[in-house]
Amino acid sequence: MATLFEKIIAGEVPATIVHRDPRVTAFLDIHPAAPVHILVVPNKAIATADEIADDDEALIGHMVIVARDLARQHGIAQSGYRLIVNCNADSGQEVYHLHLHLLGGRPLGPLLQRSSIS
Ligand code: AMP
Repeated sequence: MATLFEKIIAGEVPATIVHRDPRVTAFLDIHPAAPVHILVVPNKAIATADEIADDDEALIGHMVIVARDLARQHGIAQSGYRLIVNCNADSGQEVYHLHLHLLGGRPLGPLLQRSSIS
């Protein structure tokens, strides 16, 4: 069964697309956690970071380059931003189609609460 993000890539579910090329699609997160919150998604379905194959190295690099360019286009390259990939349950991954969160536009605070170590 197609994932939600495959349906967005196919145009079957609406989204605000901000970048599309043969390898990657990027769109606005429907529940933004920051003024800029973009998801950079490979067009091919990879469920989690753990399922990235060695052959996907160039694709993963391309996702980061696209995120870099989108950060520049959205004016947050100098103020700063965060790139996040959640993987599986402990990370809170909700959609099992690999995606890179690009977050910025305000100070984002610490990555994790220190108390979360235990
Ligand atoms: P994750 O928790 O890393 O799997 O992130 C999934 C993200 O997808 C969340 O930030 C959601 O807000 C976002 N999301 C869920 N449904 C949609 C949608 N239809 N369009 C855009 N973003 C979505």
